[in-house]
Amino acid sequence: VEEPIHEAVLGRAASRGDAPALIDGVNGTTLTYAQLDTFHRRVAAALAELGVRKGDVLALHSPNTIAFPTAFYAATRAGAAVTTVHPLATPEEFAKQLRDCAARWIVTVSPLLETARAAAELAGGVREILVCDQAPGHRSLLDMLGSTAPEPQIDIDPVTDVAALPYSSGTTGVPKGVMLTHRNIATNLAQLEPTIPSGPGDRILAILPFFHIYGLTALMNAPLRQGATVVVLPRFDLDTFLAAIEKYRITALYVAPPIVLALAKHPAVDGYDLSSLQYVISAAAPLDGALAEACSRRLGLPPVGQAYGMTELSPGTHIVPLNAQNPPPGTVGKLIPGTEMRIVSLDEPGKDVGVGERGEIVIRGPQVMKGYLGRPAETAAMIDDDGWLSTGDVGHVDADGWLYVVDRVKELIKYKGFQVAPAELEALLLTHPGIADAAVIGVYDTDNNERPHAYVVRQPATPDHTGAHHTGADHTETALTAAEVMDYVAARVAPYKKVRHVDFIDAVPRAASGKILRRELRELRERA
Ligand code: ATP
Ligand code: MG
Repeated sequence: VEEPIHEAVLGRAASRGDAPALIDGVNGTTLTYAQLDTFHRRVAAALAELGVRKGDVLALHSPNTIAFPTAFYAATRAGAAVTTVHPLATPEEFAKQLRDCAARWIVTVSPLLETARAAAELAGGVREILVCDQAPGHRSLLDMLGSTAPEPQIDIDPVTDVAALPYSSGTTGVPKGVMLTHRNIATNLAQLEPTIPSGPGDRILAILPFFHIYGLTALMNAPLRQGATVVVLPRFDLDTFLAAIEKYRITALYVAPPIVLALAKHPAVDGYDLSSLQYVISAAAPLDGALAEACSRRLGLPPVGQAYGMTELSPGTHIVPLNAQNPPPGTVGKLIPGTEMRIVSLDEPGKDVGVGERGEIVIRGPQVMKGYLGRPAETAAMIDDDGWLSTGDVGHVDADGWLYVVDRVKELIKYKGFQVAPAELEALLLTHPGIADAAVIGVYDTDNNERPHAYVVRQPATPDHTGAHHTGADHTETALTAAEVMDYVAARVAPYKKVRHVDFIDAVPRAASGKILRRELRELRERA
């Protein structure tokens, strides 16, 4: 699709008139499609008048708000590449990103202004900090809505010009700036569209962050392109989330596995009317089939569908189509049109493995990123001369073409010549009624074998028939023990996969996109 991203998403916006594009889930403020169309054009004009030029990098530093899409598409229309910034980034983290991509502009919100100022000071090179709302001494996007400047006529080449510069999650190393062209993103939207047809009347709850490629695609670009309504919440809190589904009659959820877990297991879910929901889709981290089924059974919905992708793939390659008949449990879906995949041997590089065999997932298609910004060596290590991108993920495909993601190559635990996937053990642990959440890492022992080490969050005590909570001594007496956890796993897996050690923790550390931060668990372990 050779079209700039703002055209691909908002090309039909004006004709949708008063249909609601975005609703603020906290105060109910609504932005119509006509407003979104006009607003982003006016802000684009004002940004151009201010001096934003083609190729400038603009950092968008904001939680999810109804103004976020206006800022994003205005910037791309003015020719800028948008780098989205984690709203909880420290000034140092933010400054690192600003320096790495030589950002010239920041758009933030007043509550985050201090962080943005400090980051700009540390990084240097930022010409101006603007705000979406209002703050003394700063230009406001709200004021720009009144702009009478002429709309900029920027010559965008969708094939080569960068539209977005998201940073990868940094789950496995330093976050890297991913150059996604207009064509990368617009093509991927078009590739995914037929699998999940959506449109006016559909209400999507934007609970995952827009700054991450998953939220940006599934909760902003795709629904706005299709004419659905996006209900925006600034941060995740289970009760607010459930209340919003009930209040706004949300029809579809795009979530990460921790939310599926909450929907399947958390007692609070029973207190809300979630009957408007038609489907739930999960991506970003491994989701076990049994957990997905527990969630859909509880909500009375068709099976929770999965999608697979990564920042470097704009982001999608696989999805379980909404109309799929009996997709097998645990699959992340089928390859979308216009994309090629190989599963390559982990032992013999370059050799394709057969149906059902595990190997590294390798992808070629129009959604493969242009490259990592300023990192030619890392780019070359990931994308070969023929355009194949090595994902670093282990998977296998069945005879019908359904893909299963096992885990990351780097996370596989090597025990006596065997390989154990942490994700598989985590899924098993979650089937225990006394376990609320779990994470597994490999820990080296003196004999140089890696052993699975589990971090377990106990299920909170439930009220008994008197309505009182079990507390204190009463609670500790019945609390789940490490031996019970290890026995539970040992009874269900081959001996080499046994969990060899259990620690109880209060919460599993996770990234904003729901991924387990195993390096934090390793640090925890090293400090112990
Ligand atoms: P970094 O590359 O900086 O270490 P990251 O890989 O976590 O961070 P993202 O691009 O946000 O950054 O995540 C992509 C990864 O998420 C994939 O490579 C894969 O490991 C995982 N993932 C995405 N979808 C799924 C899924 N449905 N099932 C299992 N894993 C998934
Ligand atoms: Mg990655």
